[in-house]
Amino acid sequence: MKYTQAELEAFLDEALSPSEMSEIEAELRSDQELGIQLRAIHGRRDAGVHSLGEIWRRHRVSCPNREQLGSFLLGVLEDDHADYIRFHVDVVGCRLCSANIADMELRQKEAAESAQTRRTKYFQSSAGYVRKSLD
Ligand SMILES: [Zn+2]
Repeated sequence: MKYTQAELEAFLDEALSPSEMSEIEAELRSDQELGIQLRAIHGRRDAGVHSLGEIWRRHRVSCPNREQLGSFLLGVLEDDHADYIRFHVDVVGCRLCSANIADMELRQKEAAESAQTRRTKYFQSSAGYVRKSLD
């Protein structure tokens, strides 16, 4: 199977990226199997049966917390977990997590810059001290 259940559900929710959406739409024209799969998911929904993935997405239970996103950004998560977050953000296209990640990247950058500024100030003041002691 080319697409996972979660991807097809995200497709029905129009929660995929525009390029993913059009890829699946194009695929649908040639792939009967895919159409059957989508109709099955759609039919279950009409009957009020929701998969866990769907319920999670609706209630944002599947969103990693900020600590997990932070570890993800630092690249210290296990592969499985990092893959999940990548899927959640890139494929499902969770806006909340994308915003969180953008915010954290900005903070990390600012923190790195202010550490740099501190080092520069320290260097300047010790250079000044060295100069004074040479006078
Ligand atoms: Zn999320």
